[in-house]
Amino acid sequence: MTDSIRLTGVAGAPGIGIGPAWRFGAPTTATPTEPATAGPAGSSPADSIRAASAETARQLEALAERIRGLGRGEEAAIFDAQALMATDPMLVDEAIGHAGGDGDPADAVRLAADAAAAMLASIDDELLAARAADVRDVGARIVRVLRGETLELPTVPSIAIADDLPPSVTAEIPPGFLLGIALSGGSRTAHAVILARSLGIPAIVGVDGLLEAIDGAAGGDDGPASVALDGETGEVVVRPGPGDEAEFRRRATDLEARRAAAAGLRDRPVATADGERVMLVANIGTPADSARAIEAGAEGVGLFRTEFLFMSRQTPPTEDEQVAAYRQVLADFGPDRPVVVRLADIGGDKAIPYLRLPPEQNPFLGVRAIRLAYADPDLLVTQLRAIWRAGAAAGVVPHVMAPMVATAADVTLLLSLRDRARESLVASGVPIAERLVTGIMVEVPSAALLAPELARMIDFFSIGTNDLTQYVLAADRGNAALASLQDALHPAVLRAVAGVVAGADAAGIPVAVCGELAGDPLGALVLVGLGVDELSADAGSLDGVRAALARVTRPQLDELARRALAASDADAVRELAAAAMAGEGQERSRVRL
Ligand code: PEP
Ligand code: MG
Repeated sequence: MTDSIRLTGVAGAPGIGIGPAWRFGAPTTATPTEPATAGPAGSSPADSIRAASAETARQLEALAERIRGLGRGEEAAIFDAQALMATDPMLVDEAIGHAGGDGDPADAVRLAADAAAAMLASIDDELLAARAADVRDVGARIVRVLRGETLELPTVPSIAIADDLPPSVTAEIPPGFLLGIALSGGSRTAHAVILARSLGIPAIVGVDGLLEAIDGAAGGDDGPASVALDGETGEVVVRPGPGDEAEFRRRATDLEARRAAAAGLRDRPVATADGERVMLVANIGTPADSARAIEAGAEGVGLFRTEFLFMSRQTPPTEDEQVAAYRQVLADFGPDRPVVVRLADIGGDKAIPYLRLPPEQNPFLGVRAIRLAYADPDLLVTQLRAIWRAGAAAGVVPHVMAPMVATAADVTLLLSLRDRARESLVASGVPIAERLVTGIMVEVPSAALLAPELARMIDFFSIGTNDLTQYVLAADRGNAALASLQDALHPAVLRAVAGVVAGADAAGIPVAVCGELAGDPLGALVLVGLGVDELSADAGSLDGVRAALARVTRPQLDELARRALAASDADAVRELAAAAMAGEGQERSRVRL
């Protein structure tokens, strides 16, 4: 019996896995069967390659269908893309070229796939580089089809060990047979890891010495080496001893308890310890983020950033393209969980080359977002038309808000663009939503100062504390040298928030916060203390905010807000909030009651 070997890699997907190793990529993982799909006997290498590519595409489409049938549309898209790669002329023609008139078709496909993968891997972009593994996987599948081989999958629940595990192999392993994944290569954005995360399978990537440890430890009468791994810490133990196993089982029990405690709170309405309801919603950046937000218990979307539709392309997105994206999110959340679509926040640090906007000395103080529409309203009118239409298509009333509003004139412009979009659709008989609940982001100090007047013009406020902080403290949010000034808990920012809440209360409209401060448990307490009705944060932050709110009472939060507004700086506010969360000040609150 070999001693245990402890290795460390990069945490890929959380969870604990313990079980026998299943080594993928060793020659024994594929078994020859009838070479039935390589084309008729005597066919040319080109015919064989074409037939095998078509068969591979068919297998991948079937896999995509099966995964979609399990309700995992996002992962199914990975295999749709691979099915396209299998018949892509770049791969097939390149392989036919390598094979010539009488070369080995399998060698030719491997060469072509390796070349395409090497090209992708050389690009300085982690996501694209991770796609190299997908191309290699497609090549290996075509080779298997050419050779009439089938993949030997694990026959008992196992930990998959590989240099890089192709996503299609991950998906083909029957449910319950994949206890964990440890890779010597790979990256956090490799599709196998994305897939593992969505399946709740622990994964670790980049484990140096893994394959040597497994191959050295396996064999003999002992059977495959056993493995224990912790996807949160990145630790892998090959041949764990009884002490290691006990330790990993204890970690598994702890993790279960933590998950159960967080998930237990998700079913209950978000509230303070004394029962005051707070609306907790999610920030999302693409339609693909909806599932995670819903799973995290989001009661809606407080900020759907739409810039993803406008970036990384040569021309603006069409109205139909936008309708599809907005409709999907509106339909995912349904009529009882409102979704706030933010109009494109272009300019500042989000440059869009095809708009050919003139360079500016100070882009954050420049012609950004709603300001663009004074000279050229088309971009926002098209977006508003798409939102009107998406609401009708999803059967819900969408919420929409404009970023960077500074003046009453900006609000008037927003309302006129909204109405213009509506009228043009009505005139051509296109179905539209019953109405658009319309709000503004308060992230420019002038809007905060004008809150009482602006509140009377619209349906809601959403405070963007990221920009509000940069403008209140005159500290560029991208300048690391000013980090100490970029703290939204600064009393100057909190006084602006208090003014916005007062203006909203007088007009009877709700106030949300969608800047990062809303996802910080201590920040959330201060904001709710100041009278904010709704917090919108990344899905991963919702559990922490929910738990923080459940620990404090309204009187404690009132006291916290009062003292925070009078504090000298952000650190002092943070200390006050931490004390409130720890239960200090409870006695005083009771006396006040
Ligand atoms: C903000 O400014 O707080 C905000 C939520 O918007 P963004 O971070 O997209 O500018
Ligand atoms: Mg902003």
